[in-house]
Amino acid sequence: MRKVAIITGSSKGIGAATAIRLASDGYDVCVNYLSNENAADEVALIAKSYGVNAISVKADISSETDVKQLFEKVGRELGNPYALVNNAGILFRQSRVAEMSAERINQVLKTNVTGYFLCCKEAIIRMSTKNGGHGGVIVNVSSAASRIGSGGEYVDYAASKGAIDTLTLGLASEVAEEGIRVNGVRPGFIYTDIHKSGGEPNRVDRLKEILPLKRGGQPEEVAAAISWLVSSESSYTTGSFIEVSGGR
Ligand code: NAP
Repeated sequence: MRKVAIITGSSKGIGAATAIRLASDGYDVCVNYLSNENAADEVALIAKSYGVNAISVKADISSETDVKQLFEKVGRELGNPYALVNNAGILFRQSRVAEMSAERINQVLKTNVTGYFLCCKEAIIRMSTKNGGHGGVIVNVSSAASRIGSGGEYVDYAASKGAIDTLTLGLASEVAEEGIRVNGVRPGFIYTDIHKSGGEPNRVDRLKEILPLKRGGQPEEVAAAISWLVSSESSYTTGSFIEVSGGR
């Protein structure tokens, strides 16, 4: 039976690297995106070059309707997912908490927390052996920010990742007996466009010297950790986290 993986937010950055890595591992992949259709189509094309099936699907993970439609479409076109990589995440301009509006905080939480919950829900419904599914794997992309707090930059974002760590622990124990493993990765400073959204495109190069490894990370290095957590090589691992953060 072919194994299907859904990677949210995989039109670029860590998600794109993960979709391509999982395709090279032999999974059929769904490349989910929000606005960047051309980039998502390109990632799906690269995935197909590994001889697997690949589709790109627009869906806002913070919308319950969109997430349901995403999983229905994947079920129709590729089959029910074996793996979900919850990756789509956002942050806004570096600010102090005293300057943050409720609108901003809620938008971060809606995508980074509610979005992950909604995708977990739809995945579990289809994966659970209690519902006649074959089990599966969920990997939540958290952040080293959940441990560090991101003071002076984006505490709202860091707190959303703290919630994801708790989701990962709680859900792992909740669904273990239904054949589903749930783990997380915590990337550190990775070269992607997300730092532009924070108002500092060169943030990784400014901060890299504080890391024991003295360099920023590449999206492919995060994808490698996700690949291991999706694979059966990690079959005895659930409710765990891999730090992909240069030693800090
Ligand atoms: P990125 O380059 O900015 O890419 C973000 C992706 O998420 C894009 O594909 C974007 O789609 C998609 N997206 C955004 N909002 C969405 C929504 N509501 N619904 C569906 N897709 C949505 O970011 P990245 O750096 O690769 O980050 C990926 C994950 O890693 C995030 O969870 C982030 O918090 C985490 N992380 C990153 C770093 C780092 O240093 N880069 C460090 C720690 C953790 P469109 O392009 O189509 O809009």
